[in-house]
Amino acid sequence: MQGRVLSVASECVPFIKTGGLADVVGALPAAMATQGWDMRVLLPAYRPLRKYLADMEPVWTEHDLFGGAATVYFGLQDGVSLMLLDAPHLYDREGGPYSGPYGDFWDNPQRFAALSWMAARLAQEGVGGWRPDVVHAHDWQAGLTPAYLRYAGVWDVKSVMTVHNIAFQGWADAGLLQTLRLPVSEFHPGGFEYYGNLSSLKAGLVTADWITTVSPTYARELMRPEFGMGLQGVIAARAAQVSGILNGVDTDVWSPGREEISYGPGKMAGKAKAREALCQEFGLTVPGPLAIVVSRLTDQKGIDLLPDVIPDFVAAGGGLIVLGSGDFALEGAVQALADAHPGRVAVKIGYSEPLSHRMFSGADAVLVPSRFEPCGLTQMYGLRYGTLPVVASTGGLADTVIHASPAALAAGVATGISFHPTDALAFGQALAQLVGLYADQKLWVNTQKNAMKHPVGWETSAAAYAALYQRLIG
Ligand code: ADP
Repeated sequence: MQGRVLSVASECVPFIKTGGLADVVGALPAAMATQGWDMRVLLPAYRPLRKYLADMEPVWTEHDLFGGAATVYFGLQDGVSLMLLDAPHLYDREGGPYSGPYGDFWDNPQRFAALSWMAARLAQEGVGGWRPDVVHAHDWQAGLTPAYLRYAGVWDVKSVMTVHNIAFQGWADAGLLQTLRLPVSEFHPGGFEYYGNLSSLKAGLVTADWITTVSPTYARELMRPEFGMGLQGVIAARAAQVSGILNGVDTDVWSPGREEISYGPGKMAGKAKAREALCQEFGLTVPGPLAIVVSRLTDQKGIDLLPDVIPDFVAAGGGLIVLGSGDFALEGAVQALADAHPGRVAVKIGYSEPLSHRMFSGADAVLVPSRFEPCGLTQMYGLRYGTLPVVASTGGLADTVIHASPAALAAGVATGISFHPTDALAFGQALAQLVGLYADQKLWVNTQKNAMKHPVGWETSAAAYAALYQRLIG
């Protein structure tokens, strides 16, 4: 065994998920086990997770965790060494991890400070003879973990702060300082103070032994004002301790060979069948490339650009299926596109993993026109399924897709199409290129094969995390 890691997060597949963070936190323990690392995951016991507690062992009791009693449970669940923080006054509520029927929970700062506090306590004291060598904190919800360790004077447990998305920084009113058990002495611009408030992400960034983000390009982007969202200076100041490690995808779950209509690089007939079935499911007839979007419908994801570019794409023979939910206006905008292009554009507002699998199997291309994208997963599913990614050249999208430039096509290494900047002009040109590439079946099939060969599993990333942990513990 190389060592022990306590991974601290607000989401983890298969237990609770709102986005890619959950996929990553859920995949890391098995990936790290292949590198000889023993990783446990600490999650809040949200209401839907309380059903697991009966099979788990209570390992820690806290009499007052931010206003109520709490118990930490441990057990192996769905292959994950899971620690659940049961604090009913904070987590036993209707709704998702962050919000209920009436919007965001008012006490989110306390809810996630409590998670971080508990993580730091467990790391400091150890539990049942298990003490981590490294705590790995994910995003603002776990951002106070390295900070509490540091403020408690614990130096022998190393900490890693991973930024999955800097748009979420965990701001709280400065008046909460004592409630959150934070030292007044650290309320300054070099500490967790953020323009008069406090930021739990910043607390993690200034106190962790190492900072990672989920792609090398995003690591560099975060030091620039266009992407750093106010924290660029904080990250740039620590540039020597910042690295980007690309996420992988679960290649057992995302595998065209395991789909109901299966196929692979050597036998692509299944993909044509899957396309037919998908078109039938949505009542589409598409002579050119059939594109998909599987995404949160937000401005970050560039969804607002679709109405500008899709009419020309449809006129050139293309078709589109959108699966997603989010911003109300954007849901309306994509619905309007479907209404305007019956038989060519279809929309499903909602969340469905089975449908997303059918879409990646049957489509020709996946569109990811993000304004910023820390890593992005859907372009990687696209690569694996020979569903060519058309991506904005930013963050992890830039690191995973090899643009079909004339040189890359000639060298036979292209895996998709990327465009810059994220605007309607560049996106429209990329779609025009997609139509052209699709028309040249020989080039198309070659590009599909390259895409499907591109490694998107966890092996490389797990080795990079293992090397980082090892370096930290010396
Ligand atoms: P983000 O975390 O910013 O939302 P990512 O690309 O990193 O973006 O991860 C999004 C994850 O959620 C992917 O696994 C994607 O397939 C999935 N996803 C997003 N929207 C939907 C949806 N409507 N139905 C099914 N899966 C979805």
